[in-house]
Amino acid sequence: MRKIDLNNFQVATSETVRDINSRIMLNLVRKHQPVSRADLMRYSGLQRSTVSAIAERLIAERWLKEGAVGNLPRGRKPTFLHLNAERCGIIGVDVQPSTTTLAVGSMDSQLLAHESMPTAKDPSEFIARLGRRIMDLMRAHPKNSYEGIGISLPGRIDTASERLIFAPTLGWSELDLKTPLESAIGLPVKLENAANACALAELWSGRHMDGASNLVAVTVSDDISVGMVMNGQLVRGTTGVAGEFGHVAQMPNGPRCRCGNSGCWEMLASNAAAVRYYAESASVRKGEIGSKSDMAKVPFGDILRLVEQGDAKACKALNQMAHHLGVGIAMLVTGLAPDVLIVVGEVTRAWDRVGPVVAEAVKRRSFTYAVTRILPADPEAQPRLRGTIALVLQKHFGAPSIA
Ligand SMILES: [Zn+2]
Repeated sequence: MRKIDLNNFQVATSETVRDINSRIMLNLVRKHQPVSRADLMRYSGLQRSTVSAIAERLIAERWLKEGAVGNLPRGRKPTFLHLNAERCGIIGVDVQPSTTTLAVGSMDSQLLAHESMPTAKDPSEFIARLGRRIMDLMRAHPKNSYEGIGISLPGRIDTASERLIFAPTLGWSELDLKTPLESAIGLPVKLENAANACALAELWSGRHMDGASNLVAVTVSDDISVGMVMNGQLVRGTTGVAGEFGHVAQMPNGPRCRCGNSGCWEMLASNAAAVRYYAESASVRKGEIGSKSDMAKVPFGDILRLVEQGDAKACKALNQMAHHLGVGIAMLVTGLAPDVLIVVGEVTRAWDRVGPVVAEAVKRRSFTYAVTRILPADPEAQPRLRGTIALVLQKHFGAPSIA
C-alpha cells in the first residue's frame, strides 16, 4: 500500500481508467509481442470490445502496428500486434570519466547504433561537443521521431534542481547539463545516476526480473555506486542521492577517500582498490627499495589479463577486491533483502573467480532469510545505455501517477 501524498496527488477523472488500461495493454504487447487481441484479452482479463477499442486507439496513435497474420485451425485468422519501434527514437548517453558513449534507442529498448567520444575534462567543452554529436547522430538516423535524451552519469542528480551535484570521478562540481542541452537540441533531457540507470535497465528490459520487484544494481568501476528498485520503483531518497553505499566507511582507519572520509567501501572494493592491492604487493616484493612513489600502477584491465594467465599477485589482488565486494554486498543483502542483486562492471569478466569469493563473504556475513540472487550483468547488454532508454520511455510505459 502506498500512502496518498496530500502535497502531490492527482484526482481520478474519466480519463484515468482509460489511461491505466492503455498502459497495461502497451506493456502486455511489449512483453508478449507479436500478440493477438484474443491473447491480450486472456492476459488482461478485459472484455473483447474493450481490448479492441484500446488496440484501435493505440494503432491510430502509432504506438502499435498490426503485423503478421496468425494461423488457427479454424475461425478467423488473428492479426498480431506489436510495438511500432519507429514511433519514438531516443538518444541514450553513457558518460564515464574517460569515454562517453552515445546510442540511438528504439521503443522496444533496442540499441540501433552507437559511437563514442573522449569525455572532455572541461564541463562546458563537454556539453558543447556532446550537443554537436547528438545532432549529428539524429541527422544520421532521420527515420525516428525523437522523443528525448537520457543521460547516465557517474554521479548523483539533485531531484529538485535536476543538476549534477556529486561526481567525484569526473571532477566536476555542481553542473547544469540539462538546460544547455535542451536549448541546443530542442528535446527533453533526463539525467540519471549510472547505478540507477542499470537498475532501471534491469527493471524494464532485464532477463532476471520476471516476478521480481526488488532489485539492487551495484556498479563497480573506479568507484562503487548502488541503484535500488523497491516495489517496482526507484529509490531516490532525500535530494536524490540515495545509494551512496560506496561511501559508507567499512574500515575506519582505511585509506583516505576523495569524499573526505576514510575506509569507504569503494576504497576497498573498486577497480582502483585492486590496482592499489596489486601495486602494494609489487612494492613489498621490491623490499627495502620499494616506496609508495615507486608503486607501479597497472590498469585494472591488465590485472584481469594477468589473472587469466595465472599471475599469483594479480590473483591475490583480485581476491582481496572480491572479498571486500562481498562484505559490502552482504550489507545490502541483509539490509534490503532484494530479489536480485546485479553487479555491473569490468570485474564481471572474471566472475568465475570473483563470484565464489563474493558468495562466500555474503554467506558468512549476512544474517537473513532473504534468498537474493547475486548475478553479474552481461557487459554486452550495455546496461547503462539501456537504462537511459528506459529513463525516457517510462513516461509512456510506467504506471500513471494518480492519488
Ligand atoms: Zn568515500
